[in-house]
Amino acid sequence: MKRKIITFILPIAVALFYSTTVAAQEQPDDLTLYQGGEAYEVKSYTQTFKSDTPKNVILLIGDGMGVAHLFAGLTANRGNLFIENCKHIGFSKTASSNRYVTDSAAGGTAISTGKKTYNGAIGVDPDKNPMKTILEEASEKGLATGLVSTSSITHATPASFIAHQPSRSMEEEIAADFLKTDIDVFIGGGYDFFAKREDGRNLVDELVRKGYTVERELSKIENYNGKKLAGLTAPKGNPRVSERGNMLPVSTRAAINVLKQNKKGFFLMVEGSFIDSGGHANNTVQVVEEVLDFDQAVGKALEFAAENGETLVIVTADHETGGMTVNDGSFETGMVKGAFTSTGHTGVMVPIFSYGPGASEFIGIMENTDIYGKMRELLVK
Ligand code: MG
Ligand code: ZN
Repeated sequence: MKRKIITFILPIAVALFYSTTVAAQEQPDDLTLYQGGEAYEVKSYTQTFKSDTPKNVILLIGDGMGVAHLFAGLTANRGNLFIENCKHIGFSKTASSNRYVTDSAAGGTAISTGKKTYNGAIGVDPDKNPMKTILEEASEKGLATGLVSTSSITHATPASFIAHQPSRSMEEEIAADFLKTDIDVFIGGGYDFFAKREDGRNLVDELVRKGYTVERELSKIENYNGKKLAGLTAPKGNPRVSERGNMLPVSTRAAINVLKQNKKGFFLMVEGSFIDSGGHANNTVQVVEEVLDFDQAVGKALEFAAENGETLVIVTADHETGGMTVNDGSFETGMVKGAFTSTGHTGVMVPIFSYGPGASEFIGIMENTDIYGKMRELLVK
């Protein structure tokens, strides 16, 4: 009897020992654990500005970026982010017109137009009527305008600022909407939605005829010094940070170089798209990499704003993704242990950070639609 029990239990004990040892060795596969990586230096910028109202607005949206995502990045960078230069802080309530939990289309449209709409809507109201966006209003007032994104430039967030379509999935129609505007610069992925289309139109040729320089290489985008630039750096979305490098910070600076030539001012929206993907995948490593990349794009915006003195920088999110929290970390090594409650978006409010003339408007708890109202009041009233 005794021997029977031992022969039964022994293999189980061995198997258990083996599996826990192997699991310990394979820790890099634990995607909720970021083990620490390279950090960058964060600069402090002036808090005195030339005027009370901004001539330029740079809005940076971290898709899916809640407080935990930001704090994961802050921990990974040994306790500091560029975003900390923003001394005015608020929160945004993100619900859409038909859901407690928004998607990026309704979230982007709320920020770009000041109206809540249904999930999936791009620049249209709940009855699918087009609504003018802050980018279009700025353009009509003679300001320069731009969009930068790590995803396809036709993806929900950037699309919400320039296109009017009943569904975010209509990316070829969204690409065609770019041609209906006077946007000065846009940089992101999505080449195929312009050049390889079902309707046979070649929007790249059409852009060239409209006076745009169309570039597919980041080095050419970085050194561009003209006035109309379409940068399409990937067939659809750009790859993750390890493959795309500093595409977002470089493109942010390149867009500013185009836009600052307009003496009346400019509106620029920059999106860090894949913080959201990290949240969906419950992947702390991706969240951290994408937040650090996004923060360095914020750094480029702040660097310009500090020297320019008439530029408002707003950093926010469209919604939270993953129900993320941070259970452990180290400011010494940059280690972050994330935890997640969802593989989708959540309804919690998201932070708004702002810097520059007009920044004091963006404090307290507000609706996502109020961000539009305040930007409009300051930039295109
Ligand atoms: Mg997005
Ligand atoms: Zn998402």
